[in-house]
Amino acid sequence: MSKHVLVLSDVREGKLRNVSFESIAAAKLAADGGQVTAAVFGSYAKDLAQPLSQYGADRVIAVTSSELDQYTTDVYFQAFKKVIEHVNPDVIFTGHTSVGKDLCPRIAAHLGYGLISDCIHVEVKDGKIVFTRPIYAGKAFVKKVVKDGVIFATIRPNNIPRNEPDMSRTPNVEELKVDLEPDSLRTLVKNIVKKSSGGVDLSEASVVVSGGRGMKSEDGFKILYELAGVLGGAVGASRGACDSGYCDYALQIGQTGKVVTPDLYIACGISGAIQHLAGMSNSKVIVAINKDPEAPIFQVADYGIVGDLFEVVPLLTEEFRQL
Ligand code: FAD
Repeated sequence: MSKHVLVLSDVREGKLRNVSFESIAAAKLAADGGQVTAAVFGSYAKDLAQPLSQYGADRVIAVTSSELDQYTTDVYFQAFKKVIEHVNPDVIFTGHTSVGKDLCPRIAAHLGYGLISDCIHVEVKDGKIVFTRPIYAGKAFVKKVVKDGVIFATIRPNNIPRNEPDMSRTPNVEELKVDLEPDSLRTLVKNIVKKSSGGVDLSEASVVVSGGRGMKSEDGFKILYELAGVLGGAVGASRGACDSGYCDYALQIGQTGKVVTPDLYIACGISGAIQHLAGMSNSKVIVAINKDPEAPIFQVADYGIVGDLFEVVPLLTEEFRQL
């Protein structure tokens, strides 16, 4: 039976993140011929309706309040709840991003709806939506089916391919006014301090060059930034590297860090602890550089280079520079 699916767009600095289009693609599958509505927040919301429509949204709800330009839990909670009540969907998708992870459990609990987080695949079988998500730190996958009721699902970035855009589509936009209750807004964002991962958003990067304790120092990471720069990728890190003070925790990948699914993941001087694998083992191609041939990272690597990373990484950078 076809469904009405609502997608909350993920916007950063006035631009739609890729996961918004990936969530629309997942929503199209889940809708099974039904309607896909995209919600977009912020003073620039109406400008973003066009790409949302081209990537498959049948209708766009724009909430243009400037208080929504920056994510804060209180203000998004009020606005998204209002949109859900207005749209009355069967299924609600967001990206499995810091926004989706914070917002969905809160609203789902408030409205008494279900939640399936971190989905990497969506399909319809026998009229029911089947969601696939990793469990046990990515060692196994579970398929979940909703028996009844409205369900929230968060979509892991870089897993469900976005649809080819249809440039001929014109958006069907509706502007929704939400009266935010000023007294209930407990947080105000005054300033955003950016942590650099090489100029590319780590969770959406198609190439991630990651360093571990084997990088030896903060200075050691410079060769990773050079390689990432040549490949147009982002720099990540193990917790070992972060704990040692070689880089900021914003770069940490793993169970207690970011989850990434790039096309190419290059692990340098990382042993491959299970907690690290939880954040990167679903990468499409994994290359490991480690001087210890017994390092567990080689068990998940598609290509392994046994050697000193301080020799191997600059050689790779030079080779890629030639291409
Ligand atoms: P190490 O295990 O010390 O490995 C360093 C590697 O570098 C070694 O394999 C060594 O052979 C290699 N090496 C050294 N010098 C060179 C060289 N010159 N050339 C080539 N190779 C070299 N970890 C995470 O990464 N992410 C998480 O989210 C995370 N969450 C955790 C949550 C919990 C609850 C716990 C208990 C742990 C968590 N950890 C996490 C920590 C994890 O268990 C490991 O301790 C950590 O991943 C190890 O980091 P590492 O591989 O950089 O360091």
